[in-house]
Amino acid sequence: MSAAKPAEHAPINWVTTLMFTFTTLPLFTVLPWYLWTHDVSGWAWVWGLVFLYANGIGITAGYHRLWAHRSYKAHPILKVGYALFGGMAIQNSILIWASMHRVHHQHVDHIDKDPYSAQRGLWYSHIGWMLRDYPSANIDFENARDLKNDRIVMWQHRNYLALILGMNIGLPVLLGLAYGDLWGFVLITGFLRLVVNHHVTFFINSLAHFWGRQPYTTSNSARDNDFLAFLTYGEGYHNYHHLFQYDYRNGIRWWHYDPTKWLIAGCAWLGLAKDLKRVPDFKIKRAMLQAQFERAREKLAQRKAANSDRVAELQHLLEQEWQHFSSTVAEWTRLQGEKFDAAKQQLSEKVHERMSEAQTQWEQSEMRQRLLTMERRLEEALEMQRQRVQLLRVQMAYA
Ligand SMILES: [Zn+2]
Ligand SMILES: [Zn+2]
Repeated sequence: MSAAKPAEHAPINWVTTLMFTFTTLPLFTVLPWYLWTHDVSGWAWVWGLVFLYANGIGITAGYHRLWAHRSYKAHPILKVGYALFGGMAIQNSILIWASMHRVHHQHVDHIDKDPYSAQRGLWYSHIGWMLRDYPSANIDFENARDLKNDRIVMWQHRNYLALILGMNIGLPVLLGLAYGDLWGFVLITGFLRLVVNHHVTFFINSLAHFWGRQPYTTSNSARDNDFLAFLTYGEGYHNYHHLFQYDYRNGIRWWHYDPTKWLIAGCAWLGLAKDLKRVPDFKIKRAMLQAQFERAREKLAQRKAANSDRVAELQHLLEQEWQHFSSTVAEWTRLQGEKFDAAKQQLSEKVHERMSEAQTQWEQSEMRQRLLTMERRLEEALEMQRQRVQLLRVQMAYA
Protein backbone atom coordinates (compact mmCIF):
# COMPACT_ATOMS: atom_id res chain seq x y z
CA MET A 1 0.00 0.00 0.00
CA SER A 2 3.02 2.30 -0.25
CA ALA A 3 1.63 3.87 -3.45
CA ALA A 4 -1.52 4.69 -1.49
CA LYS A 5 0.24 7.06 0.87
CA PRO A 6 0.34 10.38 -0.97
CA ALA A 7 -3.46 10.74 -1.22
CA GLU A 8 -4.03 10.33 2.50
CA HIS A 9 -1.15 12.66 3.30
CA ALA A 10 -1.82 15.34 0.70
CA PRO A 11 -2.31 18.90 2.01
CA ILE A 12 -5.63 19.51 3.72
CA ASN A 13 -8.28 21.26 1.65
CA TRP A 14 -9.41 23.88 4.17
CA VAL A 15 -12.47 25.04 2.23
CA THR A 16 -14.12 21.63 2.29
CA THR A 17 -12.83 20.72 5.75
CA LEU A 18 -14.25 23.91 7.27
CA MET A 19 -17.51 23.50 5.34
CA PHE A 20 -18.02 19.97 6.69
CA THR A 21 -17.02 21.06 10.20
CA PHE A 22 -19.27 24.10 10.20
CA THR A 23 -22.29 22.15 8.94
CA THR A 24 -21.78 19.09 11.17
CA LEU A 25 -20.88 20.67 14.52
CA PRO A 26 -24.33 22.19 15.25
CA LEU A 27 -25.88 18.72 14.99
CA PHE A 28 -23.98 17.63 18.08
CA THR A 29 -24.22 20.90 20.02
CA VAL A 30 -27.00 23.41 19.27
CA LEU A 31 -29.54 20.97 17.77
CA PRO A 32 -29.89 18.60 20.78
CA TRP A 33 -30.10 21.57 23.16
CA TYR A 34 -32.68 23.29 20.95
CA LEU A 35 -34.84 20.16 20.61
CA TRP A 36 -34.71 19.70 24.41
CA THR A 37 -35.68 23.25 25.25
CA HIS A 38 -38.00 24.31 22.41
CA ASP A 39 -41.09 23.00 20.66
CA VAL A 40 -40.06 22.63 17.03
CA SER A 41 -42.80 23.02 14.46
CA GLY A 42 -43.79 19.76 12.75
CA TRP A 43 -43.56 21.64 9.46
CA ALA A 44 -39.82 22.00 9.94
CA TRP A 45 -39.56 18.17 9.79
CA VAL A 46 -41.91 17.95 6.81
CA TRP A 47 -39.96 20.55 4.83
CA GLY A 48 -36.69 18.95 5.95
CA LEU A 49 -37.84 15.68 4.37
CA VAL A 50 -39.05 17.46 1.22
CA PHE A 51 -35.68 19.16 0.74
CA LEU A 52 -33.81 15.98 1.61
CA TYR A 53 -35.53 14.20 -1.28
CA ALA A 54 -35.37 17.21 -3.63
CA ASN A 55 -31.60 17.43 -3.06
CA GLY A 56 -31.06 13.68 -3.26
CA ILE A 57 -33.08 13.25 -6.44
CA GLY A 58 -31.46 16.40 -7.91
CA ILE A 59 -28.14 14.59 -7.52
CA THR A 60 -29.25 11.11 -8.62
CA ALA A 61 -31.67 11.93 -11.45
CA GLY A 62 -29.90 15.14 -12.52
CA TYR A 63 -26.18 15.22 -11.72
CA HIS A 64 -25.76 11.46 -12.01
CA ARG A 65 -28.11 9.78 -14.48
CA LEU A 66 -28.80 12.79 -16.73
CA TRP A 67 -25.53 14.72 -16.85
CA ALA A 68 -22.78 12.25 -15.88
CA HIS A 69 -24.24 9.30 -17.85
CA ARG A 70 -26.63 10.89 -20.37
CA SER A 71 -29.05 8.02 -19.81
CA TYR A 72 -32.02 10.14 -20.99
CA LYS A 73 -32.89 13.62 -22.23
CA ALA A 74 -34.68 16.15 -20.02
CA HIS A 75 -36.83 19.22 -20.62
CA PRO A 76 -35.10 22.51 -19.65
CA ILE A 77 -37.61 23.03 -16.79
CA LEU A 78 -36.54 19.73 -15.26
CA LYS A 79 -32.87 20.58 -15.77
CA VAL A 80 -33.26 23.92 -13.99
CA GLY A 81 -34.95 22.10 -11.09
CA TYR A 82 -32.06 19.60 -10.89
CA ALA A 83 -29.47 22.40 -11.11
CA LEU A 84 -31.12 24.33 -8.25
CA PHE A 85 -32.01 21.50 -5.87
CA GLY A 86 -29.06 19.26 -6.75
CA GLY A 87 -26.85 22.32 -6.29
CA MET A 88 -28.42 22.92 -2.88
CA ALA A 89 -26.91 19.59 -1.75
CA ILE A 90 -23.44 21.26 -1.76
CA GLN A 91 -21.65 18.51 -3.66
CA ASN A 92 -19.95 20.85 -6.11
CA SER A 93 -21.21 22.11 -9.49
CA ILE A 94 -22.66 19.70 -12.06
CA LEU A 95 -19.63 20.20 -14.31
CA ILE A 96 -17.10 19.19 -11.64
CA TRP A 97 -19.25 16.44 -10.14
CA ALA A 98 -20.09 14.77 -13.46
CA SER A 99 -16.55 15.05 -14.81
CA MET A 100 -15.14 13.38 -11.67
CA HIS A 101 -17.83 10.73 -11.75
CA ARG A 102 -16.95 9.82 -15.33
CA VAL A 103 -13.33 9.37 -14.19
CA HIS A 104 -14.60 7.13 -11.36
CA HIS A 105 -16.36 4.86 -13.88
CA GLN A 106 -13.48 4.86 -16.33
CA HIS A 107 -10.86 3.96 -13.73
CA VAL A 108 -12.99 2.29 -11.05
CA ASP A 109 -10.84 0.88 -8.19
CA HIS A 110 -7.62 2.23 -9.65
CA ILE A 111 -5.63 3.36 -6.64
CA ASP A 112 -4.57 6.69 -8.15
CA LYS A 113 -6.84 7.42 -11.08
CA ASP A 114 -10.20 6.72 -9.42
CA PRO A 115 -10.83 9.95 -7.44
CA TYR A 116 -12.72 8.07 -4.69
CA SER A 117 -11.13 4.67 -5.07
CA ALA A 118 -12.57 2.02 -2.74
CA GLN A 119 -9.05 0.54 -2.67
CA ARG A 120 -8.11 3.33 -0.28
CA GLY A 121 -10.69 2.17 2.23
CA LEU A 122 -14.11 3.11 3.52
CA TRP A 123 -13.24 6.47 5.08
CA TYR A 124 -11.31 7.72 2.06
CA SER A 125 -14.00 6.75 -0.48
CA HIS A 126 -16.73 8.18 1.78
CA ILE A 127 -15.38 11.61 2.64
CA GLY A 128 -11.58 11.50 3.01
CA TRP A 129 -11.01 12.21 -0.68
CA MET A 130 -12.76 15.58 -0.33
CA LEU A 131 -10.75 16.71 2.67
CA ARG A 132 -7.39 16.78 0.90
CA ASP A 133 -5.95 18.26 -2.27
CA TYR A 134 -4.92 15.24 -4.22
CA PRO A 135 -3.71 15.56 -7.85
CA SER A 136 -6.36 13.15 -9.15
CA ALA A 137 -8.88 15.74 -8.00
CA ASN A 138 -7.50 18.22 -10.54
CA ILE A 139 -9.72 17.80 -13.57
CA ASP A 140 -9.52 19.56 -16.90
CA PHE A 141 -13.05 18.73 -18.12
CA GLU A 142 -11.65 16.99 -21.21
CA ASN A 143 -14.20 14.25 -20.55
CA ALA A 144 -17.05 16.75 -20.16
CA ARG A 145 -17.01 18.75 -23.37
CA ASP A 146 -20.70 17.97 -23.92
CA LEU A 147 -21.46 19.53 -20.52
CA LYS A 148 -19.49 22.67 -21.36
CA ASN A 149 -21.99 23.21 -24.19
CA ASP A 150 -24.94 22.89 -21.83
CA ARG A 151 -26.12 26.37 -20.89
CA ILE A 152 -27.81 25.30 -17.67
CA VAL A 153 -24.70 23.42 -16.53
CA MET A 154 -22.45 26.41 -17.21
CA TRP A 155 -24.86 28.88 -15.64
CA GLN A 156 -24.91 26.76 -12.49
CA HIS A 157 -21.11 26.41 -12.53
CA ARG A 158 -20.57 30.18 -12.76
CA ASN A 159 -23.11 31.06 -10.06
CA TYR A 160 -22.48 28.11 -7.79
CA LEU A 161 -21.53 29.97 -4.61
CA ALA A 162 -24.47 32.38 -4.81
CA LEU A 163 -26.77 29.44 -5.53
CA ILE A 164 -25.73 27.29 -2.56
CA LEU A 165 -25.85 30.24 -0.16
CA GLY A 166 -29.22 31.42 -1.46
CA MET A 167 -30.81 27.98 -1.40
CA ASN A 168 -29.34 26.80 1.92
CA ILE A 169 -29.80 30.00 3.90
CA GLY A 170 -32.58 31.76 1.99
CA LEU A 171 -35.09 28.89 1.83
CA PRO A 172 -34.93 27.77 5.51
CA VAL A 173 -35.00 31.41 6.71
CA LEU A 174 -37.99 32.34 4.52
CA LEU A 175 -39.93 29.22 5.51
CA GLY A 176 -38.93 29.66 9.15
CA LEU A 177 -40.30 33.20 9.14
CA ALA A 178 -43.48 32.10 7.36
CA TYR A 179 -44.14 29.34 9.92
CA GLY A 180 -42.93 31.42 12.90
CA ASP A 181 -40.12 29.02 13.86
CA LEU A 182 -36.95 30.54 12.40
CA TRP A 183 -34.35 28.55 14.37
CA GLY A 184 -36.25 25.28 14.17
CA PHE A 185 -36.26 25.58 10.37
CA VAL A 186 -32.61 26.70 10.17
CA LEU A 187 -31.50 23.72 12.25
CA ILE A 188 -33.69 21.03 10.69
CA THR A 189 -34.34 22.02 7.07
CA GLY A 190 -30.94 23.74 6.97
CA PHE A 191 -28.22 21.88 8.86
CA LEU A 192 -29.73 18.46 9.60
CA ARG A 193 -31.14 17.98 6.09
CA LEU A 194 -27.83 18.99 4.48
CA VAL A 195 -25.62 16.71 6.56
CA VAL A 196 -27.96 13.69 6.28
CA ASN A 197 -28.08 14.13 2.52
CA HIS A 198 -24.30 14.44 2.36
CA HIS A 199 -23.69 11.13 4.08
CA VAL A 200 -26.41 9.10 2.39
CA THR A 201 -25.14 10.20 -1.01
CA PHE A 202 -21.53 9.52 0.01
CA PHE A 203 -22.60 5.94 0.87
CA ILE A 204 -22.78 5.30 -2.88
CA ASN A 205 -19.03 5.84 -3.19
CA SER A 206 -18.14 4.10 0.05
CA LEU A 207 -20.53 1.37 1.32
CA ALA A 208 -21.88 0.53 -2.15
CA HIS A 209 -18.33 -0.55 -3.06
CA PHE A 210 -17.94 -2.77 0.02
CA TRP A 211 -21.23 -4.24 1.20
CA GLY A 212 -23.66 -6.35 -0.83
CA ARG A 213 -23.91 -8.87 -3.63
CA GLN A 214 -22.31 -8.94 -7.08
CA PRO A 215 -24.84 -10.59 -9.39
CA TYR A 216 -23.62 -9.02 -12.64
CA THR A 217 -19.86 -8.69 -12.42
CA THR A 218 -16.95 -9.31 -10.09
CA SER A 219 -14.59 -7.23 -12.25
CA ASN A 220 -14.93 -4.23 -9.87
CA SER A 221 -15.82 -3.63 -6.24
CA ALA A 222 -19.36 -2.24 -6.78
CA ARG A 223 -22.24 -4.03 -4.98
CA ASP A 224 -26.01 -4.32 -5.10
CA ASN A 225 -27.62 -3.63 -1.74
CA ASP A 226 -31.37 -3.12 -1.10
CA PHE A 227 -30.88 -1.37 2.22
CA LEU A 228 -28.47 1.12 0.64
CA ALA A 229 -30.89 1.60 -2.25
CA PHE A 230 -33.48 2.70 0.30
CA LEU A 231 -31.08 5.29 1.75
CA THR A 232 -29.64 6.49 -1.55
CA TYR A 233 -32.79 7.25 -3.58
CA GLY A 234 -32.35 4.01 -5.55
CA GLU A 235 -28.62 4.13 -6.26
CA GLY A 236 -27.84 1.07 -4.14
CA TYR A 237 -27.90 -1.24 -7.17
CA HIS A 238 -24.37 -0.20 -7.84
CA ASN A 239 -23.04 -3.50 -9.21
CA TYR A 240 -25.60 -3.28 -12.02
CA HIS A 241 -24.84 0.40 -12.48
CA HIS A 242 -21.10 -0.06 -12.92
CA LEU A 243 -21.65 -2.65 -15.64
CA PHE A 244 -24.52 -0.86 -17.39
CA GLN A 245 -23.94 2.80 -16.60
CA TYR A 246 -26.03 4.09 -19.52
CA ASP A 247 -29.25 2.55 -18.23
CA TYR A 248 -31.58 5.17 -16.71
CA ARG A 249 -32.52 2.53 -14.13
CA ASN A 250 -30.32 1.24 -11.35
CA GLY A 251 -32.85 -1.14 -9.82
CA ILE A 252 -34.18 -3.03 -12.84
CA ARG A 253 -36.87 -5.18 -11.23
CA TRP A 254 -40.26 -3.64 -10.47
CA TRP A 255 -39.81 -4.41 -6.76
CA HIS A 256 -36.40 -2.70 -6.57
CA TYR A 257 -36.63 0.54 -4.60
CA ASP A 258 -35.49 3.10 -7.16
CA PRO A 259 -37.47 6.37 -6.77
CA THR A 260 -35.05 8.06 -9.19
CA LYS A 261 -36.09 5.61 -11.92
CA TRP A 262 -39.78 6.16 -11.09
CA LEU A 263 -39.32 9.92 -11.27
CA ILE A 264 -37.61 9.73 -14.67
CA ALA A 265 -40.28 7.36 -16.03
CA GLY A 266 -43.00 9.64 -14.60
CA CYS A 267 -41.40 12.67 -16.25
CA ALA A 268 -41.24 10.79 -19.56
CA TRP A 269 -44.96 10.09 -19.23
CA LEU A 270 -45.57 13.83 -18.67
CA GLY A 271 -43.42 14.72 -21.66
CA LEU A 272 -40.60 16.21 -19.56
CA ALA A 273 -38.09 13.45 -20.37
CA LYS A 274 -37.40 11.33 -23.45
CA ASP A 275 -34.99 8.83 -25.03
CA LEU A 276 -34.73 6.77 -21.83
CA LYS A 277 -31.93 4.23 -22.35
CA ARG A 278 -32.41 0.63 -21.22
CA VAL A 279 -30.01 -2.25 -21.52
CA PRO A 280 -31.64 -5.16 -23.46
CA ASP A 281 -32.81 -8.00 -21.25
CA PHE A 282 -30.63 -10.48 -23.06
CA LYS A 283 -27.46 -8.56 -22.18
CA ILE A 284 -28.46 -8.46 -18.52
CA LYS A 285 -29.17 -12.20 -18.41
CA ARG A 286 -25.90 -12.89 -20.22
CA ALA A 287 -23.95 -10.92 -17.60
CA MET A 288 -25.71 -12.71 -14.73
CA LEU A 289 -25.06 -16.12 -16.19
CA GLN A 290 -21.43 -15.30 -16.87
CA ALA A 291 -21.00 -14.21 -13.25
CA GLN A 292 -22.63 -17.49 -12.14
CA PHE A 293 -20.21 -19.50 -14.25
CA GLU A 294 -17.26 -17.64 -12.74
CA ARG A 295 -18.47 -18.28 -9.20
CA ALA A 296 -19.17 -21.95 -9.94
CA ARG A 297 -15.66 -22.40 -11.42
CA GLU A 298 -14.08 -20.80 -8.36
CA LYS A 299 -16.03 -23.03 -6.00
CA LEU A 300 -15.05 -26.16 -7.88
CA ALA A 301 -11.40 -25.14 -7.94
CA GLN A 302 -11.51 -24.76 -4.15
CA ARG A 303 -12.99 -28.25 -3.69
CA LYS A 304 -10.75 -30.07 -6.10
CA ALA A 305 -8.53 -31.55 -3.38
CA ALA A 306 -11.42 -32.77 -1.24
CA ASN A 307 -13.24 -35.01 -3.72
CA SER A 308 -11.39 -35.05 -6.96
CA ASP A 309 -13.45 -37.59 -9.01
CA ARG A 310 -16.83 -36.02 -8.35
CA VAL A 311 -15.40 -32.53 -8.76
CA ALA A 312 -13.75 -33.44 -12.08
CA GLU A 313 -17.11 -34.76 -13.32
CA LEU A 314 -18.88 -31.56 -12.28
CA GLN A 315 -16.12 -29.51 -13.85
CA HIS A 316 -16.68 -31.37 -17.11
CA LEU A 317 -20.43 -30.69 -16.95
CA LEU A 318 -19.81 -27.05 -16.17
CA GLU A 319 -17.50 -26.65 -19.16
CA GLN A 320 -20.14 -28.29 -21.36
CA GLU A 321 -22.67 -25.75 -20.13
CA TRP A 322 -20.13 -23.01 -20.79
CA GLN A 323 -19.85 -24.19 -24.41
CA HIS A 324 -23.64 -24.01 -24.79
CA PHE A 325 -23.63 -20.58 -23.24
CA SER A 326 -20.85 -19.33 -25.52
CA SER A 327 -22.63 -20.53 -28.65
CA THR A 328 -25.90 -18.91 -27.52
CA VAL A 329 -24.04 -15.65 -27.00
CA ALA A 330 -22.33 -15.98 -30.39
CA GLU A 331 -25.74 -16.52 -32.00
CA TRP A 332 -26.99 -13.37 -30.29
CA THR A 333 -24.01 -11.35 -31.51
CA ARG A 334 -24.55 -12.62 -35.07
CA LEU A 335 -28.21 -11.67 -34.82
CA GLN A 336 -27.34 -8.17 -33.70
CA GLY A 337 -24.93 -7.81 -36.63
CA GLU A 338 -27.62 -8.99 -39.02
CA LYS A 339 -30.07 -6.49 -37.56
CA PHE A 340 -27.56 -3.70 -37.98
CA ASP A 341 -26.66 -4.68 -41.57
CA ALA A 342 -30.31 -4.98 -42.57
CA ALA A 343 -31.11 -1.57 -41.13
CA LYS A 344 -28.14 -0.08 -42.97
CA GLN A 345 -29.08 -1.70 -46.26
CA GLN A 346 -32.70 -0.64 -46.02
CA LEU A 347 -31.65 2.89 -45.28
CA SER A 348 -29.39 3.05 -48.30
CA GLU A 349 -32.05 1.48 -50.54
CA LYS A 350 -34.53 3.98 -49.30
CA VAL A 351 -32.12 6.80 -50.01
CA HIS A 352 -31.67 5.55 -53.57
CA GLU A 353 -35.44 5.19 -53.89
CA ARG A 354 -35.14 1.67 -55.17
CA MET A 355 -37.88 0.53 -52.85
CA SER A 356 -41.31 1.93 -52.40
CA GLU A 357 -42.37 3.13 -48.95
CA ALA A 358 -44.85 0.27 -48.53
CA GLN A 359 -42.31 -2.35 -49.55
CA THR A 360 -39.74 -0.98 -47.09
CA GLN A 361 -42.27 -1.08 -44.30
CA TRP A 362 -43.32 -4.61 -45.16
CA GLU A 363 -39.71 -5.83 -45.24
CA GLN A 364 -38.98 -4.08 -41.97
CA SER A 365 -41.92 -5.71 -40.22
CA GLU A 366 -40.99 -9.11 -41.68
CA MET A 367 -37.41 -8.68 -40.47
CA ARG A 368 -38.53 -7.48 -37.05
CA GLN A 369 -40.83 -10.49 -36.68
CA ARG A 370 -38.05 -12.91 -37.56
CA LEU A 371 -35.64 -11.22 -35.16
CA LEU A 372 -38.20 -11.21 -32.36
CA THR A 373 -38.79 -14.94 -32.78
CA MET A 374 -35.06 -15.64 -32.70
CA GLU A 375 -34.52 -13.37 -29.72
CA ARG A 376 -37.26 -15.16 -27.81
CA ARG A 377 -35.71 -18.53 -28.64
CA LEU A 378 -32.32 -17.33 -27.43
CA GLU A 379 -33.75 -15.96 -24.23
CA GLU A 380 -35.39 -19.32 -23.56
CA ALA A 381 -32.08 -21.08 -24.19
CA LEU A 382 -30.38 -18.73 -21.77
CA GLU A 383 -33.05 -19.32 -19.13
CA MET A 384 -32.61 -23.11 -19.50
CA GLN A 385 -28.85 -22.72 -19.07
CA ARG A 386 -29.37 -20.58 -16.00
CA GLN A 387 -31.47 -23.32 -14.43
CA ARG A 388 -28.93 -26.01 -15.30
CA VAL A 389 -26.06 -23.99 -13.85
CA GLN A 390 -28.09 -23.51 -10.68
CA LEU A 391 -28.69 -27.24 -10.49
CA LEU A 392 -24.97 -27.79 -10.93
CA ARG A 393 -24.28 -25.42 -8.06
CA VAL A 394 -26.60 -27.42 -5.82
CA GLN A 395 -24.79 -30.61 -6.80
CA MET A 396 -21.49 -28.91 -6.10
CA ALA A 397 -22.59 -28.15 -2.57
CA TYR A 398 -22.64 -31.93 -1.95
CA ALA A 399 -19.52 -32.77 -3.93
ZN1 LIG B 1 -19.08 3.55 -7.97
ZN1 LIG C 1 -22.43 6.41 -12.17
